[in-house]
Amino acid sequence: MRFISVTDVMYVENMFTSHDVLIIGGGPAGASTATILAEHGHKVLIIEKAKFPRYHVGESLIPFTFGPLERLGMIPKMRVSHFVKKYSVSFVQPDGRRSQPFYFHTRYDKETIAQTWQVMRSEFDQMLLDNAREKGAEVMEETTVIQLLKNDSGRVIGVEVKTKDGQVKHLHAALVVDASGKEAFASNRQGWRIGDPYLNKVAIWTYYKGSKRAEGVDEGGTTIAFVPEKGWFWHIPMHDDMVSVGVVAEGKYLTRGGVKDMKEMFYREIGENQWIKEHLSSGACTGEFWITSEYSRHSKYGASPGLLLVGDAFAFLDPVFSSGVMLAIKSGVLAADAIHEAFMAKDTSPERFAAYGQNIRQGVENMRKLIYAFYDPNFSFKDVVMQYPETGPEITDCLSGDINKDYSNLWSRISEFVKLPDDLPYGVPLAA
Ligand SMILES: Cc1cc2nc3c(=O)[nH]c(=O)nc-3n(C[C@H](O)[C@H](O)[C@H](O)COP(=O)(O)OP(=O)(O)OC[C@H]3O[C@@H](n4cnc5c(N)ncnc54)[C@H](O)[C@@H]3O)c2cc1C
Repeated sequence: MRFISVTDVMYVENMFTSHDVLIIGGGPAGASTATILAEHGHKVLIIEKAKFPRYHVGESLIPFTFGPLERLGMIPKMRVSHFVKKYSVSFVQPDGRRSQPFYFHTRYDKETIAQTWQVMRSEFDQMLLDNAREKGAEVMEETTVIQLLKNDSGRVIGVEVKTKDGQVKHLHAALVVDASGKEAFASNRQGWRIGDPYLNKVAIWTYYKGSKRAEGVDEGGTTIAFVPEKGWFWHIPMHDDMVSVGVVAEGKYLTRGGVKDMKEMFYREIGENQWIKEHLSSGACTGEFWITSEYSRHSKYGASPGLLLVGDAFAFLDPVFSSGVMLAIKSGVLAADAIHEAFMAKDTSPERFAAYGQNIRQGVENMRKLIYAFYDPNFSFKDVVMQYPETGPEITDCLSGDINKDYSNLWSRISEFVKLPDDLPYGVPLAA
């Protein structure tokens, strides 16, 4: 049942509108927004430039993805999937010494939150998009949004798209949601995109098949393996004997000695961590490499008249603690609920999305503090926990994605060791 039709909304009167909400991008954020909106009875269209399944980096989920996935109706599908179950994270020193795995079930229920997954994103994202379709959302693939359409007062009233066969069309709706990921379509074009200079890292990654992995409960654990100068490898075991492996560090460290080739940089760093070297030695690299830089970004505004931002398009943090997909799905669910309430109140002004923006920013800021501490050369989580044992569970909670809690004790303890960043005043609504 539909609760509202766009014809109820004054500002799109006299204009051909086939949907209540248009969503730019069908990744986890866009698919989640669409699923919940469709469940609420709204007519929603995802416009996605790729043809799914499409490649995407970001395979490791964290425990607090469970709640939003449950809300989407995805848990039964995840349980019967072939994705490897992830129960823990471990840290490995350059000389190969490995920490005890941090098992999430020391803090959360073993059968639900504490068990998460390592996913092949092409498959996982397709599952989320199909789930949105099943709930009633429409999806237009191989269609690129090229422009936001605005009325005379500056309100976003739709998008201009280019289809696969080159046709340019105008689509209108009461609201446009930007879920375009790191492209950050709306905030980039409107000058709202702001970097996070301290998190200005470079990541190079590839995939291995047949490399060494643990067995049993530890098979799907993520390993973060340090290289000098606060660089680190991720090692994410997936199904079909595949491993996602990448190195993240400062550009000037990775290119030291004038090295420019990304494969050369990657292979050189393997030699800097005994555990990574040993684990990859029995496997074969699939051959394709990827590189990205300067990827931590924030949008100054989270909403403006006719427009709302979700997922990476709203904010994206360094992936060291694998928070991206959780934040994308959670923001999609929360944004969809906020949009539904706005439609019910017949008021979609940006101010209605202030609480949504604050909620997501609070989570981003908590995670961001932990990431800043991690990258400080003078800091170690072990030192804080030894001096203040109560911080151990708090750190585990934040790493698990329980990011909307009051962590003031943790931040004040960590601040005795290292300077933490102030909260950024971003993600707020831009009023008309
Ligand atoms: C190196 C690296 C490692 C990472 N590792 C992890 C990890 O282990 N765990 C984790 O949780 N996260 C990780 N992330 C982050 C994670 O990948 C993202 O946070 C997540 O994909 C965000 O989802 P999203 O839906 O916002 O964006 P996306 O998944 O990027 O989806 C956006 C979609 O929008 C489409 N699109 C873009 N522009 C347009 C347009 N103009 N018109 C139409 N469609 C458009 C794109 O094709 C895409 O399908 C990592 C990121 C990086 C860079």
